[in-house]
Amino acid sequence: TIGGVGALYYITQREKNPGPQLPFDPDKKTLVILGSGWGATSLLKNLDTADFNVVVVSPRNFFLFTPLLPSVAVGTLNNRSIIQSIRYITRHKARNVSVIEAEATDVDPVNKLIKFADNSEVRGAVSSTAIPYDYLVYAVGAETQTFNIPGVKEHACFMKELNDAERFQNEFIDCLETAGFPGQDPQEIERLLHMVVVGGGPTGVELSGELHDFLEDDLKSWYPELAGKVRITLVEALPSVLPTFSKQLIDYTQSTFKESKIEVLTKTMVKEIKERSVILQMPDKSIQEVPCGLVVWAGGNKGRKVTQDLMAKFPEVQTNRRGIVVDDFLRMTGAEDSIFAIGDCTSTAYAPTAQVASQQGSYLARHLHQMAKHDELQTKLSRLEALAATVVGEEEKKATLRDVEMTKKQLAKIKYRPFDYSHQGSLAYIGSEKAVADLPFMNGNVATGGVATYMFWRSAYLSTLFSLRNRTLVATDWIKVKLFGRDVAR
Ligand code: NAD
Repeated sequence: TIGGVGALYYITQREKNPGPQLPFDPDKKTLVILGSGWGATSLLKNLDTADFNVVVVSPRNFFLFTPLLPSVAVGTLNNRSIIQSIRYITRHKARNVSVIEAEATDVDPVNKLIKFADNSEVRGAVSSTAIPYDYLVYAVGAETQTFNIPGVKEHACFMKELNDAERFQNEFIDCLETAGFPGQDPQEIERLLHMVVVGGGPTGVELSGELHDFLEDDLKSWYPELAGKVRITLVEALPSVLPTFSKQLIDYTQSTFKESKIEVLTKTMVKEIKERSVILQMPDKSIQEVPCGLVVWAGGNKGRKVTQDLMAKFPEVQTNRRGIVVDDFLRMTGAEDSIFAIGDCTSTAYAPTAQVASQQGSYLARHLHQMAKHDELQTKLSRLEALAATVVGEEEKKATLRDVEMTKKQLAKIKYRPFDYSHQGSLAYIGSEKAVADLPFMNGNVATGGVATYMFWRSAYLSTLFSLRNRTLVATDWIKVKLFGRDVAR
């Protein structure tokens, strides 16, 4: 035990006290990375920052482990446990990386300029500025798609950013406390305790599952008078939930939800959200108004305005509505010489998942390293060729020409490989300590569900968490919940 504690102390202290870093180098090219999500973070983790002057611009100065967001929403995990400052990576990099907390407002691909604005409360004298780039990695992600359905923005709670989960937790507890208010009307209690989740994709399914766990595990002891009165309804426009999973797993999820008393309404479309109800178009096209206390909107994602503006600058080639079109090397079509795009802001053959963004980020780190190597050798070659033309001594000339040949060989060895996605499977937690997993093994999909999958889900998430700090905090939160229950203080 003493040895373990000692090792942990040593690792944490090494993490806390980074060594000296190389300063900015005017001879190096400037690489600007927009974003701090899955794609940008994976790139930063793997990037050799000695190759470039790197600047990261993102409206949040942290990485958010999105798969565990529903766990924060219901108080299983603490909000700080699933985030990690971006400086946590950059402070250990070879060269000093500049991190700017700001929102990119415009990309000028002709003059290679990024404009950005201070997104938090403006406290300083400067609130917007621009910087030049040689290479840009565009990894800004996506935003919640509302389809302009009336009332979504005003009355529903999203489930995409950390503050969405915090807002949900606050409003959910508020519904419980208000329902428990002395003399509350029974009809009003019923409404307040009806939670509607819109969207049967993985986000909506996982949130419904986590919410059910809260009701099962904690509501009875925290709010005994309300136990049994809370209802969860999951609304999905398509014929089934989790449409990207196999049929067997869809059935497993739907039957688990049935047992869990989560009402699943498929082929049902939300047409409007009001302050105290949702308007549904039922499978038979009839319209129903359903009273509810809280609506969670998990209806999918769309490109951000800054992305649409950037695409509009290439009207001939960037016409895909799903996002930025890139080539096999993740270069933006139309701006191949300077812009790379990764993650949810792109339109590729793969689903816009964390796994894809993360693999694209690490691929790009290798690719950029090769490019830097290539640039360096090219400069060396030009210098050697100029030297070979001017040297007079026979021996010296021979030696220089030998160097020229060697450098050419080294250059020829640099082969850029296209990005190749390797699907490791999809996982979703469905509540009641059960998870579903589509795992691509041996040419086929192995679909698994149940408690063993749940343990696998926990360990898979724990191991993919960002840092030792996050792993420690999440594991501790899980133990805390087992011992003391979820936190309902707000
Ligand atoms: P999604 O796009 O996968 O699902 C949204 C769902 O909402 C769709 O099925 C759509 O039919 C439904 N919908 C939209 N408007 C509606 C309306 N008005 N009424 C009723 N239903 C409506 O969105 P998501 O779940 O947020 O996932 C986004 C991406 O992130 C996906 O690529 C997903 O695979 C990925 N993701 C994966 C995991 C995981 O693997 N565990 C978890 C979260 C997200």
